[in-house]
Amino acid sequence: MTTTSKQALKTHFGFDNFRSKLQEDVVKAVLKGDRDVFVCMPTGAGKSLCYQLPAVLAEGITLVISPLIALIQDQVDRLKSLNIPACSINSKLPAGERRLILADLGSSSPKLKMLYITPEMVASPTFQPCLTGLCSRGLLSYLAVDEAHCVSQWGHDFRPDYLKLGELRGRLPGVPCLALTATAPKNVQDDIVQSLRLRSPLSFVSPVFRSNLHYDVIFRELLPNPYVHLYAFIQKALGLDKGSNGQGCGIVYCRTREGCETVAYQLTKLGVLAKPYHAGLKAGDRTEAQNDWMQGKVLVIVATISFGMGVDKANVRFVAHWNLAKSLASYYQESGRAGRDGLPSSCRTYYSPRDKEQINFLIRQEVARKQAKRGSEKQTDKTAITDFDAMVSYCAQECCRHATISKFFGDKTPNCAGACDYCRNPKGVRAQLERAATLSTK
Ligand code: ADP
Ligand code: MG
Repeated sequence: MTTTSKQALKTHFGFDNFRSKLQEDVVKAVLKGDRDVFVCMPTGAGKSLCYQLPAVLAEGITLVISPLIALIQDQVDRLKSLNIPACSINSKLPAGERRLILADLGSSSPKLKMLYITPEMVASPTFQPCLTGLCSRGLLSYLAVDEAHCVSQWGHDFRPDYLKLGELRGRLPGVPCLALTATAPKNVQDDIVQSLRLRSPLSFVSPVFRSNLHYDVIFRELLPNPYVHLYAFIQKALGLDKGSNGQGCGIVYCRTREGCETVAYQLTKLGVLAKPYHAGLKAGDRTEAQNDWMQGKVLVIVATISFGMGVDKANVRFVAHWNLAKSLASYYQESGRAGRDGLPSSCRTYYSPRDKEQINFLIRQEVARKQAKRGSEKQTDKTAITDFDAMVSYCAQECCRHATISKFFGDKTPNCAGACDYCRNPKGVRAQLERAATLSTK
């Protein structure tokens, strides 16, 4: 190899440095090419580069599996703008373009470096011969499976077509395989490795613990005025009480549209401009709310969980959950949108036993509906329930919040050092639980 990976990073992608040591380590391991690789890094960490850079430096073609045509289009456009020959074969592609691509792939020295396909495409009869041809001519450099958690029935985004990828991997024995996902709990990680038939992969997993996030839980029913309490929290988190010019911003998650409207209204009335964001709004209003928040015109967005995917904002100083998240894994992901810049940030859950009962009911109803539709039970039906139970335990336990989260993801116990309410004031946490217990028996 004549160029180092760092030079290539600059030449092909225009970046001076790797995002992190982990990103660099993954790229180096992939470039070595002797082992399968498993990558679990949070959204925004730069996972795509982990296969794109090796793909550019390799002789042949890298096959990338990604679940959504929109995601694929984004990446292909970006690669093309960098003059990296990439394209996608998918169901929406006009026949003429498809023919051109297949012709290039069938030629003795294809120009293409990266080929993106959806998992549905993998088994398609048009694509099969092409793939076999590439493989037998030794032209496949890597197989990259993005959003790899979609292969797991334990995960939150299970896609049955991803299960075909295990077989695909079996048919490409000599091609190093790379599986990438954002935070996945331990059982999902194991499932990915098994389902994709990775062979003793090198694992690169970001630590779950983020020391700049302060986690706490407040029992909503114990508060004389919950909105005033939330308002005070926001003032403190954004430094408004100290006359900060409002550089930071925050997210309040609510379960329902009405919840979003009410909380946004109450916060604005109390003195901090907040806008609702949910699927009941007109698309234009939704976009406007998001843009105003992105540009700092509105400090607080009060949203359902439809908000946040693909939102990568550095200065989110707090994420508050007005209602419980549906699982501890979702909670980690949603609250983790705080503090991307590494500065101290707060993650708060307002817990309410009544809320718990409601969500519990909804989850069980959904599971029952699924079972009725398919006429049988599945072991995975239980995951929705146990994942929510983990969220409830997180709130109702006397234990370090960071430790609970790390344990859930199969990580070792972190050194919290006062970054949660329990480690800072265990007696306060106990007192709150005791007061809540007396309320519930009344
Ligand atoms: P992920 O898939 O982990 O969520 P992406 O691959 O989409 O993350 O990358 C997130 C952003 O980080 C992209 O805009 C990408 O261009 C940028 N990025 C990736 N690597 C680097 C780097 N080494 N230096 C600067 N920006 C980077
Ligand atoms: Mg990605």
